[in-house]
Amino acid sequence: MPKSNKDGGILQGTKQNFNKEVHTLRLSLTTKCTLNCRYCFVEKDGRVISLDSAKKILRLFLSSHGKDKMLIIYGGEPLLFLGLLKEIVIFSKKIAKENKKKLIISNGTNGTLLDKQNLAFLRKEDVKISISIDGKKEIHNKARITSDRKGSFDLVIKKIPLLLTSMEKKNICVLFGVLPTSVAELFENFLYIIKLGFDSVNIEPIQSPLFKWTDKQQAYFKFEMKKVVSFVYESIENNDFVFLNSVNRELNDNGMSKLYGKTLCPFYQNLEVYPDGELAFSPFLINSPQKKDYIIGNANSNFLKKYEICQYDCQSAKCQECLDDYRGTRNAKRNIADDVVKMRNAYSIYLARKIRESVNTRASFRRYVGQAKKRIFE
Ligand code: SF4
Repeated sequence: MPKSNKDGGILQGTKQNFNKEVHTLRLSLTTKCTLNCRYCFVEKDGRVISLDSAKKILRLFLSSHGKDKMLIIYGGEPLLFLGLLKEIVIFSKKIAKENKKKLIISNGTNGTLLDKQNLAFLRKEDVKISISIDGKKEIHNKARITSDRKGSFDLVIKKIPLLLTSMEKKNICVLFGVLPTSVAELFENFLYIIKLGFDSVNIEPIQSPLFKWTDKQQAYFKFEMKKVVSFVYESIENNDFVFLNSVNRELNDNGMSKLYGKTLCPFYQNLEVYPDGELAFSPFLINSPQKKDYIIGNANSNFLKKYEICQYDCQSAKCQECLDDYRGTRNAKRNIADDVVKMRNAYSIYLARKIRESVNTRASFRRYVGQAKKRIFE
């Protein structure tokens, strides 16, 4: 761990020394949660980030190179601490404005605490909401459970009418977790989510040691994704738009294909801050038993020396290898869940290409692309 730097290091205001571009910052506001999902990697030890720590990393993030910035606030359940969430949102917007950055803020929630008060604030501040729903009741309740092991579906579903009437559609997305054991019903559950009234979905294959993807389940994923892709394409032809976050990213700035077959410098989109100010490049590894090995610095002191002095060139082989070295994956066995995510990304790139082919000749496709670019949640 780095020592506290009282003279002022990278995180103490000498931002001109910081040579990296941070496009996305994931801020874990708390490890406390109203649920205890089976695939959750967060150690529920009740920690909450201090406003001071949050401000330090937000200043660095919002003064780093690059104009476009994405702040993802998650936990635990961030709505447990609405006062702090408000301060973080307002501070981030102020600093972004001062530094002339284009900032998107997205708040991840399990939905159990949504109410008029927090929704009014999120709407007023144009904060996006990503709500986790795994599909129909029996599917959602397989893993999204309370600490007394009861399914959370009923707690979440009763909040949906309020959510849909309080927020603009462009600011709501469903994080649709897909378990390998539910993959055969992926399309059916996707349709169910659309029927609830949502029009934006982020398909998230679950990555957890408890849920391993077999070859057969991967084949199912492919099969079901084809149906989703056709459905989304037809929604454009029918002027009744349905969006996928991963396709929107591709349509926006080739956000998926620029990653194809490579990883960028982890500072660009993997930087995470945890409640004690710990900085890391992976939510899984910082919650692992070896977490000390994966801390790259602290918002209250500094980055490890090696990350301070390394020369930033986001797409260089050296910067790409950095994340693999960090994860220890360069020579290790491949992670099958990563392959499923890559499959989703490949379908998203394919669909985005198909959509672009029609942009010049069909008005609904042009309108769709315009709206898709406003629906980036991750
Ligand atoms: S709601 Fe999110 S943070 Fe809470 S237990 Fe479930 S996955 Fe973990």
